[in-house]
Amino acid sequence: MTKDEPHKKKNEKKKKHKLFTPRKKKSVEEDAAIQYLKAQYDKIVSDEIKTFKDFPLSQKTLKGLKENNYIVPTDIQKQAIGYALQGKDILGAAKTGSGKTLAFLIPILEILFCKKWTRLDGVGALVISPTRELAYQIYETLRKVGHLHDFSAGLIIGGQNLKFERKRMDQINILISTPGRLLQHMDENPLFDCSQLQILILDEADRCLDLGFETTMNAIIENLPPNRQTLLFSATQTKSVKDLARLSLSFPTYVAPHEQAATVTPEALQQSYIVCEIDNKLGTLWSFIRNHLKQKVLVFMATCKQVKYMYELFCKLRPGVSLLALYGTLHQEKRERIYQEFCRKSNVILFATDLASRGLDFPKVNWVIQYDCPENVDTYIHRAGRTARGVLGKGEGLLILLQHEESFVEELKKSKIPINKISVDPSKIMSPQRKIESLLSDNTDLKQSAQRAFVSYVKSVSLMKNKDIFNIQLLDTDAYARSLGLIIPPRIKFMYKKMNINKVSEKVTTDDTIKKLKSKAGDDEGSDLSESETDNTPILQQTKKVKEKKDIPKFDFHSDNGDSDEDVFIKVKKKNVEVDMTAPEEEYTQSKKKGKPLTKAAIAKKILKKKIKVNTTVKFTEDGEAIDDDKKDVKSELAKQFINENVGGIDIEKAKEVLREEDKFDKIRFREKVKAKHKEQKRKLKNKKKEDDGEKDDFGSQSDSDDVDLSWLPDPDRVYGEKDDSDVDLTKPSNDNNTGSGSEDTEIYEKYHRPPKRKLLENKGIPQESIAPRKVKKIEEVSASLSVQEAEALAMQLLKSKRK
Ligand code: ADP
Ligand code: MG
Repeated sequence: MTKDEPHKKKNEKKKKHKLFTPRKKKSVEEDAAIQYLKAQYDKIVSDEIKTFKDFPLSQKTLKGLKENNYIVPTDIQKQAIGYALQGKDILGAAKTGSGKTLAFLIPILEILFCKKWTRLDGVGALVISPTRELAYQIYETLRKVGHLHDFSAGLIIGGQNLKFERKRMDQINILISTPGRLLQHMDENPLFDCSQLQILILDEADRCLDLGFETTMNAIIENLPPNRQTLLFSATQTKSVKDLARLSLSFPTYVAPHEQAATVTPEALQQSYIVCEIDNKLGTLWSFIRNHLKQKVLVFMATCKQVKYMYELFCKLRPGVSLLALYGTLHQEKRERIYQEFCRKSNVILFATDLASRGLDFPKVNWVIQYDCPENVDTYIHRAGRTARGVLGKGEGLLILLQHEESFVEELKKSKIPINKISVDPSKIMSPQRKIESLLSDNTDLKQSAQRAFVSYVKSVSLMKNKDIFNIQLLDTDAYARSLGLIIPPRIKFMYKKMNINKVSEKVTTDDTIKKLKSKAGDDEGSDLSESETDNTPILQQTKKVKEKKDIPKFDFHSDNGDSDEDVFIKVKKKNVEVDMTAPEEEYTQSKKKGKPLTKAAIAKKILKKKIKVNTTVKFTEDGEAIDDDKKDVKSELAKQFINENVGGIDIEKAKEVLREEDKFDKIRFREKVKAKHKEQKRKLKNKKKEDDGEKDDFGSQSDSDDVDLSWLPDPDRVYGEKDDSDVDLTKPSNDNNTGSGSEDTEIYEKYHRPPKRKLLENKGIPQESIAPRKVKKIEEVSASLSVQEAEALAMQLLKSKRK
């Protein structure tokens, strides 16, 4: 079937003489070539294919393949390309690294070529990948092999400039995307149109169709035209009828060249496992790295936080080789950089989550270490498949298991995975334990990172489905914490939630339980720890068991203060106080009906819906009428204008200016208030005086204007001589000119009103300000009640002070 198109060759010869081929003529020739190729599709027999040239492929594709040294197609390529060109839906399953990418990229190029797809025709092919890195890799392969075609290809993945992508969307013919970003464009971008879609590909199809992407993928599929061709590829292909039905695939062609193979993993992949104590796990990895400094190693861990911590820690421990870390919570630019760096380098260690387990074709990886037991056999296959890729690829895989995880090997063997146990001499393990502990004691950030790693790992174990292997009860969390360098194991609140200890109805009621829980949660009371170590009863059972006991101290749970608070989880606070153990924080954030967490945004939305003006108070009279609070009304023109044109957002500068303007009005308002207060005080004083007068308290009036008959008084000037200017006129305590505060006035008034009789006698010097001419009558009255000597002394005193 190696018939090169003779007419095409002639055409190329002509081109050498003619600079410009008339467009019409070219198109006629292209039509003829397409017709010829199409006619060959039904004649393809996969077993007869030796090289790519044996396929009826366009010159542009063949050239692109040759340029990249793709000469002989792999098994999956031989089988899948033929069916795909024939327009069949395909369910492609082939080992990792067996060339599935080209098995779908070549048909894409050919199908669009034969349909004479142009830029104006929109999206003709759509490839969906579960991760950004894999999407990028597919895009790069497409660019390499398809660059001679006139189609435009677009990579649409999260973490990129959405606006930029948006504008270019209508010009893309082959779209490579991750599910989330694709749906975002479908929902939000008016320029996105896939109504003309010819071919849909799901790479790592089982992953794309699993629960994690379920709703997103369903929404995407709903938006795609049903009369398209669909190709699914994976090393662990889905055969679920439900999945196929979701894609409207009723009779896809199942292409699985390795189905009868002795192993499901690549033959060139050497696989082994070791079983170690949790305390030795970190030391084992450290020793492995120290012994493989000239190798390219990929280490898989269960969670992002573990990867982050191990990377930070190992960087500080300086193993003598480049270290990298790749995980989902990294910024996209960093992710790209790390991905490229690991592709480029040859002596490097990459710590990664399962983000890197699928599809990524890192060149020449020597070792794949599965530091944490994979979730299932499929994950094992994909992780291990990052090495020994391609036609000549070789590599080794090492699975590190804890004792209780060893049964996982049985599952691997049942799934046709050849794996051998190797034993490690514990004395050969170089444990950097001491160094780690000292690093953590010096570095709070690192310590917090370790705490997070610990919690995230325990959490991941608790969330795993396979409870025979991932059993939190069998996990020595204290030892694990210590292995990370944490002397005090962090608290694991979610464990309690999981075990329904936080149920409102349950009241935990025993010393024993407290101790067990404390030791499990990591409270650093040594005696408790030793007790828990000897009792292997699961915590939940312990809790139930002790519920029967009575008259024991009850305790409360600390509310969650964040990961960093590692020391105390449960603390006996008071005796004989039953505490409702529903976390108050949770009660607040959980909507009662749905059990859905109430976010701040949701609360704000609710308020907006009810049209409640936040931070506003309306006062009402007893009759129910609203009282205008002029304090809250703005006075300045600027402020009114600002409120009217406030369309959202805050202009700080303008707001400041408005406040300054408003401040002027506030000052005026304040002054008026002070004045009013003074007036009121004056009035009260007057009234009091009147009352006092009525009670025959003859201290005289306070005001000059008051009509009080003072004729009976002796002329003070005659008695004391001329009034000294320095005298304080106490008759005018609330003189209008008096700018003193009201309290001062009252003080003076008090002194004036109640001269302490005793003081007068005790104090030799009578304070001048407490005596005034108009008080003479009172003085006389006072003096009348004194003995002659006392009266004399008083008179002398007064005269002296007056003459000074
Ligand atoms: P899979 O998707 O099956 O895991 P890939 O498509 O990523 O595998 O291909 C694995 C490696 O094999 C890549 O480096 C790719 O360049 C190489 N490869 C694919 N097809 C061929 C081929 N026909 N000849 C040589 N190398 C190939
Ligand atoms: Mg692949």
